[in-house]
Amino acid sequence: MAAKIAGNLEGCNVSIIVQQLQGAYERGQLKNALYQYWAQQVPKIFFTSAEVAISTQRTPDAVQSEEKLSRDVLFEPLEWFLCGGNPAAVFQQLQSLNNPPQLCGKVFKVGEPTYSCRDCCADPTCVFCIECFNKSTHKTHRYRMSTSGGGGYCDCGDVEAWKQDPWCDIHKQGLGQQSQNPIEKLPPDIAARAWEVLKIALQYAVDMLLWEQMGGLPQDLEPSVPQNTYVTMLFNDEIHTYEQVINALTKAINCESKEAVEFATVVDREGRSSVRYGNRKSCDEARTVIQKSTSSVRSKPLKVEVMHTSVCAHQAFAQKVLNWLGQVVNHSDGLRHILCTTALQQPPTGDPCVVERLMLADTALWKTARVQCHQIMMGSLLMDQESKKQFSVLYTRNYPQVQKDFMADDHDHGVSIISLSVQIFTVPTLARYLIMEHDLLAIVIRTFLDQCASCRHGRYLLDREKLQKNFRRLQFPLLDLKYVLSMVPDQWNDQLKRKFLNGFKIMVELLTSMQGMDSVTRQVGQHIEMEPEWESAFNLQIKLAPAVAMMAGWCATDKMVLIDAFRIVVKALLEIRGTADTVKMCKRRVCDQEAIVVDYTVSREPVSIHLPICRLLAGLYLQLGKHGLTFNSPELYGPLDWTSPQARLSRASEIAHRASACPTPLVLARSQPPSAMDLLEQPLRTLVMIAQVHAEMWKRNGYSLFHQVYYYHNVRCRAEMQDKDIIMLQVACAQMDPNQFLIALLNKFELMNWIEDVTEKGGSATDVSAESTRDLLRFTNSLVEEFLTFLIIITGERYVPGIGQVSSEDMVRREVIHQLCISPMAHSELSKALPENNNYETGLEGVVHSVASFKKPGVTGMGRYELKPEFYKDYNPFFYHYTRADQSKSEEAQLKRKKQEGESTACPPPELPALSKEFSSLVNVLECDVFVHTIRMVLRRVNSSRSRSWTEAMVHRALHLVGMALNEEKRLYQTSPYIRFNFVKKATEGGSNSLYSALHDLLGKPRIQNHADLLTWVIDRFDEVKDLKDQKQGASDAQKAKKVSSKSKTDAERKKKAEAARKRREKILAQMSDMQKSFIRDNLELFEATGTELSSSPSMEVEGSPMVVPSQYPVAVGPDRSPATHVTLTTSTCILCQEDQEVAAGNKCVVLAAYVQRSTALSKSRGKVLEDPDKYDPLLVSPDLYHGVHTSTCGHVMHADCWQRFYEAIVAREQRRALRFRHILSYEVDRGEFLCPLCETLSNTVIPILPPSSTIQPDSVSADISLSFSDWLDGLKKTVEASQRAMMKEEEDKMESSDDMPVLSPCPLPSITKNMAEMAAQGFQQLFEYMTETGAQAPYSDSVKEMMKLFSRATYTNMLHDPPLPTKFGLGLDPNDDDDRVPITAWGTCAYTIRTLEWLLRDQGKPLFGSLSSRQADCITALVRVVTVSGSLSDPQTISKSALRLLSALLPQEPMKNIPCILDLDMFFTLVFLHVTISSLYCDENTAAGGTIRGVALNDKHLMHLVTAAHLVQILLAANFTSADTPMDTEETAEGSAWVKLFMAVRKEAGVQTPVVPSGWQLQTYVRESVLPFLRCSALFFHCHTGVQSPAQLQESGVSEFEPLCQYLALPADLSSLLLQNSGADVGHVVPHTIHSKWCHYPGIKESLASGPASLVKYPVEVNRLVPLPHDYSDVINRGSVFTCPRSDGDDSRAPTMCLVCGQMLCSQSYCCQTDLEGEPVGACTAHIYTCGAGVGIFLRVRECQILLLTGKTKGCFYPSPYLDDYGEHDQGLRRGNPLYLCQERYRKLQKLWLSHSIPEEVVHFMEANASFATIEWQHL
Ligand SMILES: [Zn+2]
Ligand SMILES: [Zn+2]
Ligand SMILES: [Zn+2]
Ligand SMILES: [Zn+2]
Ligand SMILES: [Zn+2]
Ligand SMILES: [Zn+2]
Ligand SMILES: [Zn+2]
Repeated sequence: MAAKIAGNLEGCNVSIIVQQLQGAYERGQLKNALYQYWAQQVPKIFFTSAEVAISTQRTPDAVQSEEKLSRDVLFEPLEWFLCGGNPAAVFQQLQSLNNPPQLCGKVFKVGEPTYSCRDCCADPTCVFCIECFNKSTHKTHRYRMSTSGGGGYCDCGDVEAWKQDPWCDIHKQGLGQQSQNPIEKLPPDIAARAWEVLKIALQYAVDMLLWEQMGGLPQDLEPSVPQNTYVTMLFNDEIHTYEQVINALTKAINCESKEAVEFATVVDREGRSSVRYGNRKSCDEARTVIQKSTSSVRSKPLKVEVMHTSVCAHQAFAQKVLNWLGQVVNHSDGLRHILCTTALQQPPTGDPCVVERLMLADTALWKTARVQCHQIMMGSLLMDQESKKQFSVLYTRNYPQVQKDFMADDHDHGVSIISLSVQIFTVPTLARYLIMEHDLLAIVIRTFLDQCASCRHGRYLLDREKLQKNFRRLQFPLLDLKYVLSMVPDQWNDQLKRKFLNGFKIMVELLTSMQGMDSVTRQVGQHIEMEPEWESAFNLQIKLAPAVAMMAGWCATDKMVLIDAFRIVVKALLEIRGTADTVKMCKRRVCDQEAIVVDYTVSREPVSIHLPICRLLAGLYLQLGKHGLTFNSPELYGPLDWTSPQARLSRASEIAHRASACPTPLVLARSQPPSAMDLLEQPLRTLVMIAQVHAEMWKRNGYSLFHQVYYYHNVRCRAEMQDKDIIMLQVACAQMDPNQFLIALLNKFELMNWIEDVTEKGGSATDVSAESTRDLLRFTNSLVEEFLTFLIIITGERYVPGIGQVSSEDMVRREVIHQLCISPMAHSELSKALPENNNYETGLEGVVHSVASFKKPGVTGMGRYELKPEFYKDYNPFFYHYTRADQSKSEEAQLKRKKQEGESTACPPPELPALSKEFSSLVNVLECDVFVHTIRMVLRRVNSSRSRSWTEAMVHRALHLVGMALNEEKRLYQTSPYIRFNFVKKATEGGSNSLYSALHDLLGKPRIQNHADLLTWVIDRFDEVKDLKDQKQGASDAQKAKKVSSKSKTDAERKKKAEAARKRREKILAQMSDMQKSFIRDNLELFEATGTELSSSPSMEVEGSPMVVPSQYPVAVGPDRSPATHVTLTTSTCILCQEDQEVAAGNKCVVLAAYVQRSTALSKSRGKVLEDPDKYDPLLVSPDLYHGVHTSTCGHVMHADCWQRFYEAIVAREQRRALRFRHILSYEVDRGEFLCPLCETLSNTVIPILPPSSTIQPDSVSADISLSFSDWLDGLKKTVEASQRAMMKEEEDKMESSDDMPVLSPCPLPSITKNMAEMAAQGFQQLFEYMTETGAQAPYSDSVKEMMKLFSRATYTNMLHDPPLPTKFGLGLDPNDDDDRVPITAWGTCAYTIRTLEWLLRDQGKPLFGSLSSRQADCITALVRVVTVSGSLSDPQTISKSALRLLSALLPQEPMKNIPCILDLDMFFTLVFLHVTISSLYCDENTAAGGTIRGVALNDKHLMHLVTAAHLVQILLAANFTSADTPMDTEETAEGSAWVKLFMAVRKEAGVQTPVVPSGWQLQTYVRESVLPFLRCSALFFHCHTGVQSPAQLQESGVSEFEPLCQYLALPADLSSLLLQNSGADVGHVVPHTIHSKWCHYPGIKESLASGPASLVKYPVEVNRLVPLPHDYSDVINRGSVFTCPRSDGDDSRAPTMCLVCGQMLCSQSYCCQTDLEGEPVGACTAHIYTCGAGVGIFLRVRECQILLLTGKTKGCFYPSPYLDDYGEHDQGLRRGNPLYLCQERYRKLQKLWLSHSIPEEVVHFMEANASFATIEWQHL
């Protein structure tokens, strides 16, 4: 065997080692041999020098070499030995022996998506991984999506985790395989070696990780040559902040703060980091400094250790060994089983086994070591059924200690061993086994109790301080309790009963200790001095409530258990009550009824809101009925049968328990049934206190009580607080005589005086002198209201199964109805308002469709549910879960609705379901004497004119109660043949003094006008019920007829009223719409259209209206162009001084507020950045448009001087403010930013508004010039030649090479014309001649020029400087003004903005004309005017030089440095630039700025032809056809063949291969499509320039644009005729072949074409879009989870964030990926936007599911994501977990936001509106 191994290992000493190991193994000394080997090798590999020892200096290389060495030297030999052959082959073979896996068990990484099926999961912790989920049937169920916090694994295949379909398709395959002991499947020799190897390795790893002597190693690992090096090891804690650690480190080891940040990052990520390497002394010093500088009064110092490097080395290796073990057992079930057995084997010494040691030492380990230990436990022990059981027994046994350790620890729950609870306790069989055999329930509850309570005199006392400070850590046993209890047992046995009840008793002890917690006494006179702490009791309540409810649920499933539990609770209750001696009783009388009540005054004595024992009893009580028990069943109270085996056992355990722990009085020898009064008293006190709080009697007790009352009622607590108290009162009420019950209530409400005193002399029982009579009256009135509400609730709340005859669906349905009566609601709002069960289910989906209809959302907002109309009748304004706000909102909504529908405004009490048998006597309250008396009294007082002791609210409630009583009587008449309910009878007794006549007396009373409709309803209902009653008694029909008539009379009256109301409403609506219209008229400036449409005279609005389209087809270019008709921006109103201003040369200058930003939105080379701004040539623009400047405006117009004053005021204000405190503004004043004074849109410059060119330059002047295209071309060519010759001569003369760019200088016009034919020369001369007569004087004011300069500067700084240099406004010279590029950048932004708008229109499929917003139209119009004029306002010679450079690119003669070939030129930019500059081509020193030439229009036409021709060649060269095809039946046109001819010619000329020759049709289509964007941009440009209206065809979408565009631009429809002389006829615009040839031979062309299609811009240029997103959001999460931090060696990223522009995933918001930007650390997103988006970015934060918008370094905002759930809602933070799908509409909206360059504007708007955004450090994201 050894020989075979050696043979396979080529020349490596591994074979020798393996041989040695084999030898030692045979001698039985494998451990010694391995330890010796490790002792030698390990210190050589790990922590060998400072470079690899100190964490931050670990270069990837060092890490890699360490990794490789340990692999080669340490693990390789071990694997060869273990396998007895090539490990790769052997492991593969072992894998094939495995049973197909039935469990997935995939361990989740942080951020990985997990799925739970809401229909099928056993509890919400059961999850699938994405692979399993996608292959399971649950995909079609209601599922919940979430991201894993790490830890945890896939439960696929766990039959206990799922109610059905526990297997996905993959893991189903494992079914049916009989399980055989996996070890038996292993080859025996491998198994034998594995037993040894795995044991030694595991033992070693655990020994080393838990090794405590930092100075040296165990003897058997001591190296032969001792070293003397140490490291200072810094450990993580969760107490010190990053900053504190960094600070300490910079002091201790003298490092840069950047390095300290890196250390801190490693410490945080891994749990420890070595920060210094050296001798003992220096390491000790560093430790001392760190400890000193991090200790303070409040916190312990950071943990620091000085460790011998060899210890570190072995610990590092030990971690690797653990990983290795995990990998090895992953290959084979057998090996896994061996490892588990080893780990769980108790050593003969009796010491704990390895697993137990790790459990107990968990908190002593550092973070990564812990996590590795947990992972190997999950990967081995928890994957093996038998081992899992043993492990859980160990875990249970050590549970108290482990929890205690966790309490003392400071690390998060996620890195503690207690996070494994969920893996064990959620397995129902396991949990049940642990309860039965190991008393799990008792252990868990007692562990909790021991942590937070002390035991005194047999009762537990909660430790407030612990609860308050440590609840976050304390709560985990309660969570575990929830897991343990989550599955109700379907079968009980004696042992389970016994152990459960044992746990239940301890729970009751815990609850007893809470009963009466935080009791309060009403404060009179003085306000309390200190707000008492109340949160801890509520925290406890919230965490405990689910477990208590579940325990009650368990009890309900077994009669015996229920009985025993009931007894335990009753006993506890009676003990709390105390003996009869301590309870004072007294007698009370109301209208001849007498009752003995407890004498306890809530307003004077302490009352608590915490009554968990009473509430538990109420919970159990509702279960009694299921087992045929009632409150008085003798089983519940009779003597306990202590002779049953069960009882004996439980007594034995009690005795044992008493001996061991706190003595618990558990003797249940005989218990008394508690009296109804006992049940009633405690909850009643609490409810009365709350009523008094509502009555504002407890105001002086402060906010603390206010908060408690709030939570008592809140949806999170009410099920186990308020609801249970109400149930308890209903229980008591059902047991009692109704009169006595009411007297007890009146007494407790302190209304005895009120009810007795008919003459209204007295007040409430609270006769404290400090309270004024007015207060007393107010309190009493409020208390009466509360009391009446209370009666409505007690008798009316029947939607609890057990009380009313309802199902739990009915209960949810009623909640939903009442929520929707407030307003229509989104799904999430509704779910939030409903209580969740333990599976986080509200039951909403099951019922909502039966009562509501869903309205889908639009592009914004959420989908909403609306109540179906037929359910409005179920509305009850006194619904007990309404807050006061809910109540008034719902009443308002219902009132409004009813008025609109012309219905009666009464909201009568809804019809109620019948009560269950047990509670049927509840209704008797509604007919008892005290009730009738009380109501009558309320109504009488309303009637009495002088009475002050009545309120509208009282009347409302009284009427409601009467209605309820009538409903009840009616229902009983209809359902039962015999009734005892006599409300009608009692209410009519007493003649004029009766309740009935009191009701009638109220009719028409103005003081109850608001409830008049309800009163009518009540009286009608009264009569109706009376009739029913009479019918039963056979009364006459005549009476009935009378009644009906009175009823119909009121109906008719109501209808009349409703009709009148409707008319009134309509009138008001009409008035309002009138007002609105006139408002818009009066305040037109305020609307977006400001300053634009204002000036358009009616004739200018011809666009789009076909009637007025002139017969002549509009042409915008050339001497024959149509007259200007569409002229905008001619008059405006200054938003600052409100004066109107006509725009004309020489007038006061007006400006538009504008925002200029650099942009890469149009880039076709994403990621390419401007490298050297100093060398950037903005004139010759590359067609990939990788860098540009975009301009936008809000369209608001100001006088230039008004604006300047405004801006200076902002600057001054900001300077003053900066002195005092640094206020964070959403805009940066020092970058020239300001907000538009009207609409607050972000701006950073202004655009001057110039008069339209048609008003300055009459069209007529150029009409008479005639110069053919070829002559024009010839002249220009000659010009370029001459300039080049002159330049080269100059170069030669200089005879020295200079770095300066050779400059072309213009040559005088005569020197060109002299070589031309006479006619041509004359035309040429005329064309370029300066007009002296009109142009001598510049028509523009200085102010206009100044503003133009200002705008140019803004574009210049934004283009070339980032961040843009601070711009100085106003007068004064800017240092950059000398740069010739300043004006060019302004022309560039014009072209760039037009290109952007063209894209936007194309992207949205809108027509070219008529669909721009007025803002956009104003923007480009103003820009085009500025640009076209700017040529004549700058230095003519500079302009002329620019013209020459452009021409030498377009009409190349000699190749020149810095002049690119035509492939590298954007033709639209070139067209715009030439249009601006060509007029100045022949100017000289004598030409004054501001002059102009005559031939502008003709130049435009020729230019258009030339540039288009160049573009066509560009397109032909860049074409890349992969196949040639012609559709059937298409004849080759002349144009088509011309294109083929041209295509072949230019490509041949350029020397490119043409593998595929396309058909003529194909080529023609391609060319037309490709040239279209250029034509569209040109049309927009000339439209704005000339004001010639656009052709009607271009104002509709979906029509062919090509021909209309050509015509509008004076181009031939057959564009091939620009390049090729067709059919012999000279059409006068052919670019001759010589020029094609120059183009094609120009240097650079070949290279560009050879580099392949990837690097060339593809035509037609497509619109850039945000990256496509997957439809299902879980795919996004998955992409985020596989993404690892690029800087941390494969670690997960905490905040993976996707750039939506380029799709790159980034590790955001984390120190690890911070980089420097201009000397400041910034997060990955901020860094990215400077390469990807020119400082603007749009991201998707994957974990949060939200959009992040960033602009610059300091600004940003969050934005809802475009992913929506089925309810049309987004889910920020994935809190709800509904499946999310991409909403294309919303994503398109984001796309538009981005492409229209509106992100900076949007961010500022958001920041202005949302103060919290200003505090976020956006640069760190
Ligand atoms: Zn799975
Ligand atoms: Zn699966
Ligand atoms: Zn399912
Ligand atoms: Zn003004
Ligand atoms: Zn504005
Ligand atoms: Zn990172
Ligand atoms: Zn990007």
